[in-house]
Amino acid sequence: MSDPDFFQQGQLVAVLTTQPLDRFLDYKAPEGGCFRGAFVEVPLGPRKVLGVVWGPGRGDFDISKIRPVNRVLEVAPMRDEMRSFLERAADYTLTPLHAMVRLATRAPGLSDPPSMRKIYRLGDGEPDRQTDARRRVLETLKDYGGLAFTLKELSEMAGVTSSVVKGLVKQGVVREEDTPRDVPFFRLDSEHAGKELTADQAAGAEALRAGVRSGDYGTTLLRGVTGSGKTEVYLEAVAETLRMGRQALVLLPEIALTAEFLTRVEARFGAKPAEWHSGVTMTERRRIWKMVGQGGAQLVIGARSALFLPYQNLGLIVVDEEHDTSYKQEDGVLYNARDMAVLRASICGARVVLASATPSLESWANADAGKYDKLELTARFGEAVLPEMRAIDMRVEDLPSNRWISPTLQKAVEARVDRGEQALLFINRRGYAPVTICRACGHQVGCDHCDARMVEHRFLKRLVCHQCGETKPMPEECPSCHVEGKLAPVGPGVERLAEEAQALFPDARLAVLSSDLFGSARALKEGINTIAEGGADVIIGTQLVAKGHNFPLLTLVGVIDADLGLQGSDLRAAERTFQLMRQVAGRAGRAEKRGEAMLQTFQPEHPVIRAILAGDEVGFWSAEANERRHAGVPPYGRMAGIILSSPDVQQVFDLGNALARNDGALREVGAQVFGPAPAPIARVRGRHRVRLLVKADKGAPIQAAVAKWIGQFRLKGDIRLSVDIDPQSFY
Ligand code: ADP
Ligand code: ZN
Repeated sequence: MSDPDFFQQGQLVAVLTTQPLDRFLDYKAPEGGCFRGAFVEVPLGPRKVLGVVWGPGRGDFDISKIRPVNRVLEVAPMRDEMRSFLERAADYTLTPLHAMVRLATRAPGLSDPPSMRKIYRLGDGEPDRQTDARRRVLETLKDYGGLAFTLKELSEMAGVTSSVVKGLVKQGVVREEDTPRDVPFFRLDSEHAGKELTADQAAGAEALRAGVRSGDYGTTLLRGVTGSGKTEVYLEAVAETLRMGRQALVLLPEIALTAEFLTRVEARFGAKPAEWHSGVTMTERRRIWKMVGQGGAQLVIGARSALFLPYQNLGLIVVDEEHDTSYKQEDGVLYNARDMAVLRASICGARVVLASATPSLESWANADAGKYDKLELTARFGEAVLPEMRAIDMRVEDLPSNRWISPTLQKAVEARVDRGEQALLFINRRGYAPVTICRACGHQVGCDHCDARMVEHRFLKRLVCHQCGETKPMPEECPSCHVEGKLAPVGPGVERLAEEAQALFPDARLAVLSSDLFGSARALKEGINTIAEGGADVIIGTQLVAKGHNFPLLTLVGVIDADLGLQGSDLRAAERTFQLMRQVAGRAGRAEKRGEAMLQTFQPEHPVIRAILAGDEVGFWSAEANERRHAGVPPYGRMAGIILSSPDVQQVFDLGNALARNDGALREVGAQVFGPAPAPIARVRGRHRVRLLVKADKGAPIQAAVAKWIGQFRLKGDIRLSVDIDPQSFY
C-alpha cells in the first residue's frame, strides 16, 4: 500500500508558495520524494521561492514544462491541522491563502540549512605552561560542571581575551565542538512553584485543568476584576497542559506586558518560556519557529502573530485581556486573533481561555448563549478591594483655561504624594496638544497626505500625523496666512499634562508613560519597573498604563477626560470607554491600600459614566446588548466593511457606486449594503478612502456572498479593495 501522504520522486505535487498567486503550482517531487506538508524551495521563473506541498498535483499544466522541486527544507512539515487552520482562516477573513501561508512562515532563514556554532567545554590534561589567565578559564569551566560556553561567554566570565581560550583549545585542554545554533528552550517544570490559591481561584483552576485533561476543544471565559488572580488561575491550566505533554500559548495584547509577566512565568515554571513579538531578534524568531515545530518550546508568550507558529501539539491558548482592540490586526491580513484562536483550537482539539476584567460584548454574548463556559473570580486576592469611584463634575469646578487638573483632583493628588503613595493621571492622547491653531486666521495645521490634524510632540520637537506617521518641524509662521508667531496649541496631550502637573506639584517626582517617549520595548520595560519600585510619585500616562502593570504603591487614579471616548460615532464607543475606564481605575489600590478613582466629566449622568461609577458591569452589558440586538449589529448580526482606496477620488467613488448597484449576490443571502461614503478619515497617505458596509443576519453566509459580489469586479489602476470581516473600527 502506498502512503497517500507521500509522493515518490517525479510524482506531481501541488505547491502553495508565499508569492501573490491565486493558485497552486504543480511541481515534480524531488529525489527522495516528499511528504504532504513539506516546506520546499521551488523554482518560479528565474527565482527560488518558499512553498508548502499541499497535496497531489492538479495535472492542469503542460507536463513537459513542469519542473522539479529544488529541495525539501530541513524543518518539520506543516501539519494537516495547520493547513486546515490556514484554509479556514483564509475563508473566514476572505484573505488569499498565500497571504495566510506568509503569516505562517514569518521567520527568516527557514530555507537555510541548520546553522552551527562553536561551543567550548573542559577537555583533558594540563596546559604546557600555567598562567593566571589560563587558570581562570579552567576554573570557570570547572565551576560550571559539564556546561558548555560560547567563546564570548567563556572569555568574558574568565576575564581573558579569546586568544587565551584558543591557545588552550590547541593543546586539547579545552574542547571546541560544533552545535546547532537553534537550540531547544529549557524544560519548564509544572511543579516548580505554585501559589496557594484561594477557594475561588482553586475551583476555577480545577475547572480549567479538567478541560485541558479532556483533550477536547472548549472555550472558557475567565472573568474577574483586575487583581483577582486570573493569571494565577490560567497558569495552572498551562501547567496541566505541560503535564499532558502538550504546548501552550499565552497571547498578550502589548509587548509592554511581557516584562513583569515573563518574570512571573519564569518564577512559576523555573525557566523562561519562548517570547514572540516584534521586538524579538531575527535569529531568535527563527529559533522559536523551528523549536515550536519540533517540540523544543513548550510555552510561547506572544503577540497575536504567535497564533500562526507551527505548533506540534497545541493544547491550550490563553487570550489575556481578550477585549483588547489590538488583537484585531488592522493592516495587511485583517484578522481578530481572539476569533482565530478559537478557530485554531477547535481544529486541533485545544482549550481556549479568554481572560478579562471587562470582556468584549462578543464573548459575553457567547458565554451567555452557552457556547463558552463561564468562570468568575469574584473577590480580589488578599485584602485589596476595588477602588472607590467618583465623578468630578467639571461644570462646577473652577478651572482657568488651558488647565485640565481640577482643584478637587489636585488636592487628592497632593494628599497621596504627602503620604508617600503614588497617583496616576490618565489621558488617552499622545503628544503635547492635539490641535495647533493659528490665532490670526483660525487655520488648523493638518497633514499634507491625510485628512487629519497634526499633533504637536514637544518632546520630539515636531508635528506628527497620528494617521500616517508623517512628521515636520513646527512652522514659524502660519502655513495659511503666513503671520508669524501666532500658532498656538489647543487641548491637552500627555506631554502638556505633564507640564501642568510639574507646575502644580513642584516637589513630586514625575514619570510620563507614553509609547513614543521610550526608544525601545526594553526601555519601556525598565521605565515601568522603576515606577513599580516607587521611583515616581505622580505618573502621567496614556492607554499604555491601562494594561496590566502592577504598581503596588498606586492608590489614586485621576481620569482627565472621561468623556473623550463617548464622542465617537463608533459602534463600540461605549463599550471601549467602559472597558478602558474600568481598567484604568483597576490600577489603583492593588496591594493592601484601598484605592480611589476619580473621573473628570462634563456629563456625570451619562449612562456609561454612571455604570462605571456604580461598578454595574452586568447592567452595562445588558443595556448595551439590548441596543445592539435592536439595531441588528454585532454580536447579534454580521457585518463586513469594504474599504476602497486610490489616489484618484473619482475612481474610488465610481467603483463604490458600481458595487452598491450590483448587490444581487448580497441580496440572495438577505444582506444589505450601505454606502459608498467617504471614510471618516477620507484621505490617508495621499489615498482617498471610501467605505461600504454590508449588514446581514447572524446566520447569513456573509463571506461567500461578499466574495461572489466583489468577484464581479476587476480592480483597475492603482485602486485597492480590502474586506474587513467583523470590523472593529470604522475609520
Ligand atoms: P489578574 O490576572 O486577575 O489581574 P493576578 O493573577 O495578576 O490577577 O493577581 C494579582 C496579584 O495578586 C499578583 O501579584 C498575584 O501574584 C497575586 N496573587 C493572586 N492570587 C494569589 C494567591 N492565591 N497567592 C498569592 N498571590 C496571589
Ligand atoms: Zn498623515
